[in-house]
Amino acid sequence: MYSFKLQQVTQTTMNQTLLWFRQDFRLDDHPALMKAIEMNQPIVPIVILDPSWFENTRLGLPKMGRFRARFWKESIEDLATSIEKHGGSLIVREGLPESVLAEAVDEFGIHNLVAMTYPGTEEADTETRIKSRISSNCAFEWVDGHTLLHTDDLPFELEDLPKVFTPFRKKVEKEVDVREPVSSPSKILWSTYSSSTPWKDVLEGSQLSQHAGDWTPDTRSVLPFKGGETAGRARLDEYFWQGDHLKVYKQTRNGLLGANYSSKFSPWLANGCVSPRRIWSEVKRYEADRVSNESTYWLIFELLWRDFFQFSAWKHGASLFHAGGIQGKAVRQEPNKDRFQRWADGQTGADFVDANMRELNATGFMSNRGRQNVASYLSQNLGVDWRMGASYFETMLIDYDVASNWGNWAYNSTVGHDPRNRQFDVDRQAKMYDAQGRYRRTWLQGTLF
Ligand SMILES: Cc1cc2nc3c(=O)[nH]c(=O)nc-3n(C[C@H](O)[C@H](O)[C@H](O)COP(=O)(O)OP(=O)(O)OC[C@H]3O[C@@H](n4cnc5c(N)ncnc54)[C@H](O)[C@@H]3O)c2cc1C
Repeated sequence: MYSFKLQQVTQTTMNQTLLWFRQDFRLDDHPALMKAIEMNQPIVPIVILDPSWFENTRLGLPKMGRFRARFWKESIEDLATSIEKHGGSLIVREGLPESVLAEAVDEFGIHNLVAMTYPGTEEADTETRIKSRISSNCAFEWVDGHTLLHTDDLPFELEDLPKVFTPFRKKVEKEVDVREPVSSPSKILWSTYSSSTPWKDVLEGSQLSQHAGDWTPDTRSVLPFKGGETAGRARLDEYFWQGDHLKVYKQTRNGLLGANYSSKFSPWLANGCVSPRRIWSEVKRYEADRVSNESTYWLIFELLWRDFFQFSAWKHGASLFHAGGIQGKAVRQEPNKDRFQRWADGQTGADFVDANMRELNATGFMSNRGRQNVASYLSQNLGVDWRMGASYFETMLIDYDVASNWGNWAYNSTVGHDPRNRQFDVDRQAKMYDAQGRYRRTWLQGTLF
């Protein structure tokens, strides 16, 4: 692990603001950056490569697998390049956030530390450890802003979040306005420090790079998925403006093959390369310039689903990870390793499930339709503890997000926000959504299907 050597920083200024880019690798509509700018002190931008990202889960797999690791590496490279274009210089360090930040605060004469705050118990533990390590001369600002709706604008306290999505949606649609996204200013007062170890060298020698590895994307992947704000904004442009796909989103969103049946914004949203408010404002622009219809509304509707799971994770904390979920339900699901492994390898014999799992294993992505089916199948047909599936997704997904992943898993395993039974008939689903078998042929080629 790289150790942050204080003497390597050759120039420091007193009264600076430390801006920690946590999982929000962008400059556009970045509430923590805007807060740092308000402080009117030179800003020291930092990314911390945390070795705990690669700790093994109970399944013996790293929490972050190769798909997300590469996406994060590319996102950090893109952020560093953008900051350079704006006249600054990103510090990249490897180590535990509390140690790296404590050292940086002392070295740079930091009086203010600003970062975004996220749901998730590990994320909250990190924030607690940081508070206990940083000197009392340094103030913290944990800025809330990775959701479409700001928590301060909600018409209820988080503890009173409705149990089911529809009442939540109806209430916020009626009573909450989305805040306009804020573009990054062209001039930012960055600190003038220079570090003798350039960010590129730290990144290249890091565990993140090792885990990202060197591999060629599967040609069957729905998209090549390059990390970073630049690629994320290009995807918005392609989906909305060049391809004009938004106008039919509601009809195509249950698709399984190809780049454009759904937006594929999730990796950039989950990893903070694009803000949900920027997507919202592009939808509004599209509605004004092209067409406003059920499809354009439906993309916002899905962003509200995303918000619902984020607020739910904040509200429910650790119970999100309990076997009985937020309902505290008694469930009959076992941690059966053999059944789990067959599922994970795409070897259950249920061809629709197997095709989806093979897509995930080869690309790090799976459609929403696929995710619902494989989750329901593992927990309800195979009777396996749903948390093994959620944990496997945590490793594999390029768009992993703690709230969306564990919330959706619980939901589809009938221990989440929906009190109804969520068991899917996977053969019927295959007939409905893959009537010609093209999807299954794509992913099961070479097998008996
Ligand atoms: C078991 C399971 C696990 C999931 N894990 C994740 C995860 O870790 N990260 C993640 O971002 N999404 C997760 N989802 C939600 C959803 O499957 C993906 O967001 C979606 O497939 C991404 O493709 P897209 O960007 O083309 O979505 P689109 O259909 O184009 O939707 C636009 C955006 O809305 C949001 N969204 C859509 N559906 C959901 C949903 N059900 N829950 C939350 N947000 C939603 C996403 O941010 C998505 O990018 C999971 C769903 C299931 C059933």
